[in-house]
Amino acid sequence: MENIQKFYIKTFGCQMNVYDSQKMSDIFYKLGYIKTSSQIKADISLINTCHIRDKAKQKLYSELGRINKIKINRKLKGKKTIVIVAGCTAQAEGEEIFNRAPYVDLIVGSQSYQKLPQLIKEKISHFSRNKLNKTNLSELDFTPKSKFDNLTEEKFLNKVSSYLTIQEGCNKFCRFCVVPYTRGPEYSRPVHDIIAEAKNLVSNETKEIILLGQNVNAYHGYDSNKNEYNLGKLIYELANINGLKRIRYMTAHPKDMHEDLYNAHKDVKQLMPFLHLPAQSGSNKILKSMNRNYSFEEYVEIIEKITKINPDIAFSSDFIVGYPGETKQDFKKTLDLVDIVKYAQSFSFIYSPRPGTTSYKMKDKITDDEKKERLLILQNKLKSYQEKFNKKFLKKSLDVLFTNFSKKKNYQSLGYSPYMQLVRLQNKKSMKGRIKNLKIIKTFYKSLDAINEI
Ligand code: SAM
Ligand code: SF4
Repeated sequence: MENIQKFYIKTFGCQMNVYDSQKMSDIFYKLGYIKTSSQIKADISLINTCHIRDKAKQKLYSELGRINKIKINRKLKGKKTIVIVAGCTAQAEGEEIFNRAPYVDLIVGSQSYQKLPQLIKEKISHFSRNKLNKTNLSELDFTPKSKFDNLTEEKFLNKVSSYLTIQEGCNKFCRFCVVPYTRGPEYSRPVHDIIAEAKNLVSNETKEIILLGQNVNAYHGYDSNKNEYNLGKLIYELANINGLKRIRYMTAHPKDMHEDLYNAHKDVKQLMPFLHLPAQSGSNKILKSMNRNYSFEEYVEIIEKITKINPDIAFSSDFIVGYPGETKQDFKKTLDLVDIVKYAQSFSFIYSPRPGTTSYKMKDKITDDEKKERLLILQNKLKSYQEKFNKKFLKKSLDVLFTNFSKKKNYQSLGYSPYMQLVRLQNKKSMKGRIKNLKIIKTFYKSLDAINEI
């Protein structure tokens, strides 16, 4: 085992990065490397980065500092380490990373992972010519199609719940957001590729597929007969796969909700009754300034329409507070929206100005204290709705799909309800991979406890 080359991957950011990290793992396996959870043992140390808020960039550089120390120690023992920065910060910062962290060997943008084998080969050939770190290499092309073409499904995947990216990039250009610059323009994968990947996952123990896209409901791909598919139609198609028990999708944009998708929430029993539909703000003035292209009223209409179609559905959202120009009244509208929708869970952030975006230079008169206070008020409100939502299930039963089992943690199986609630069960036997209808005996803010009555 000592002589086998090892790789280590650390992933920051969203589910799409988790998916990309799985795909990069696949590349390393194919090159003959094995995965390690110890950075000290890794011959390749890769960080898959996020760029969405400034904090994400700070995290990258502190992580790189640690990796450099490991690289120096390994070198003293005669071992070489290839340090790779991949993902959205790699795409956005490009070769600037080499200036701040010259010990980084390779920079690979978010759409260029398929180039990794070539880049690693080149780097190793530099090593063998004793050039050590003198040549740093980067690949920052936007070629999402070839990214998917060249990657195979991860061989070692046996996940009960798997991500499947169906759409990349974004054309919406919300004024606060880096995604159109780090992930490039919208691209939808062909229907055939998605179905093939989904079938492969299901034949490798997957029971639930979470379809991913920056704007997953903007999906418009084609089948081999050139018929166009939207997300709704694609879900109907995926539901035909034998053994696929659950389908989810994220992240949906309010502007891209469409009839087929609404209908899928009525007709497709595998489609879970949960919709992550980021609102960002409740103020029409702020929504307009953000370039979100919907109003408070239109957002509420979507919620009402889908609730009519499927009264069982639960919602979650993303919110940004302290966007430039947000007054106390604007913020109050966001709180009003939360009171109307009563979200089952949500994510909320203080606005982070991102270089290169159109809102970066907008004047901002809100103090940091005020922003923190607004975030706290919003989060307290969101938390109380989440607690109330969870409490509704006390002494009731829920279908739980179990995704993990740990002997160390007192024989605990972990799974998810249809509404994305984390459910815990103490049971000697692993429940992983099974869907069980269980009684809920305790509810918390972020999770539920269940018992197996049989
Ligand atoms: N495409 C999705 C949508 O339009 O709703 C969102 C994808 S984005 C990767 C995830 C979340 O990050 C956004 O919904 C937003 O709340 C947050 N976000 C993006 N840019 C941000 C910024 N500059 N500051 C704070 N939060 C930000
Ligand atoms: Fe970013 Fe807006 Fe695109 Fe979402 S829709 S990824 S927030 S630009």
